[in-house]
Amino acid sequence: MRIDKAVLGTKSCGQEIQGFDISAGDIRARVMTLGAVVMGIDVPDRNGSKKDIILGYDSVEEYLDDRFYLGALVGRYANRIEKGTFVLDGKEYTLTCNNGENHLHGGTRGFSTKVWKGQPFSTGKEAGVKLSCFSRDGEEGYPGNVACEVTYSVSSDNVFRIQYAAESTRPTPVNLASHTYFNLTGTTQHDIKGHELQLFAEEYVPVDDNGIPSGLTAPVKDTAFDFTRPRLLGQAMDQVKPGFDHTYVLWKHHKRETCAAVLYCQETGIGMKVRTTKPGVHLYTGNFLEASVAGKSGAPLHPHSGLCLEDQYFPNSPNICEFPDSILRPGDVFAHETAYQFFAE
Ligand code: BGC
Repeated sequence: MRIDKAVLGTKSCGQEIQGFDISAGDIRARVMTLGAVVMGIDVPDRNGSKKDIILGYDSVEEYLDDRFYLGALVGRYANRIEKGTFVLDGKEYTLTCNNGENHLHGGTRGFSTKVWKGQPFSTGKEAGVKLSCFSRDGEEGYPGNVACEVTYSVSSDNVFRIQYAAESTRPTPVNLASHTYFNLTGTTQHDIKGHELQLFAEEYVPVDDNGIPSGLTAPVKDTAFDFTRPRLLGQAMDQVKPGFDHTYVLWKHHKRETCAAVLYCQETGIGMKVRTTKPGVHLYTGNFLEASVAGKSGAPLHPHSGLCLEDQYFPNSPNICEFPDSILRPGDVFAHETAYQFFAE
C-alpha cells in the first residue's frame, strides 16, 4: 500500500492542483484534484510488464485545455439533457447549452472543471483518495446546493474502485460518471478496434443524430448493437459509423449491482471487468478525439484511440419518466459504486 502526494500546478485563479499516486499489489493509479481526473492506471500485462491503460496528457496545462473530458469526473449530469431544459415538480429549469442546442456533461463549468479537495487514506487492503466538491444552487442552471464525494481506491486484488456520494438541498438531476478512456494495449499507437467487448445488456437506448433518445429502449438482439457475446470492436464499428456513442440498459426499475462489461485485449492479454450499481453503461468509442491534439508522450489522440465505458443514468432522463429516475431529493443520497477488476491471461 502506498500513497504519494504532489503539487502538480496552479489554476489561473491561484487554486493549487494536487496529484495522488496510489498503489496496492500490482496496480497503481494516478488521480488529481482538477476535475477529479484519473490520469493513469498501470496494470501488468500477461508477461508481468506494467502498462498504463488510460488516455491522458503529460501536463496540467493540457488538462486545463482539454475538450474531450479525458479521465474526468463528469457532473452534475453526465451525458445530454435535450435543449438544456427540464420540468421538475412543476417548475421549468434552463441549463447552459454547450453541445449544439443541448446540455452535455454538466455544461461549460461542470464538475470536470472544478478543483476538488483531496484526502488520501489507506486501510489494510486498499489505498485511496476521497475527493469532494460543492456545486451551488443555480450553478449552470441546476437547482440545489450539491455536496459531492468521489472516492478512488486501488486494492491488491487488482481492483480500481470508484464510490460516489452526493446530497442536495433541493430536488435536482444528478448523474455522476467517470469519463476515463481505456486502451488496454497501453499505447495510443494502436486503436481500440482490436479489443474484444462483451456488454451484459439485452437492450440499448436508441438516439437521434444529436445523441438524444426517443424515449424508448430497444432490444439488441439481431442488431449491430448486440454485445451479449464478446465481439471484436473493429467489426462492430464497421456496422455503426462513426462508432458507438450509445447507452446500454443494465436495469430499469430496481437498483442492483451488475457485471456491465468485459473488455479484453489479445495483444497484451490485459482484461477488465466492470461492475456497477448504475442503471446503464454508455459505450463511447472515442469517435470525436482529434489527432491534432497530443496526449501522453506527445502521441496524437486519433479517433478511436480509447474507449469509455461510462456507467451512468440514461441520457435525457430528467425529461423521460420511463427511464430510471435520476432526481436526487433532499434527505436521499446518490450512492453508487463502480469496480474495475483487471486481469491478464
Ligand atoms: C459523449 C460523446 C461526447 C464525448 C465528449 C461522451 O460521453 O457520449 O457524445 O462527444 O463524451 O468527450
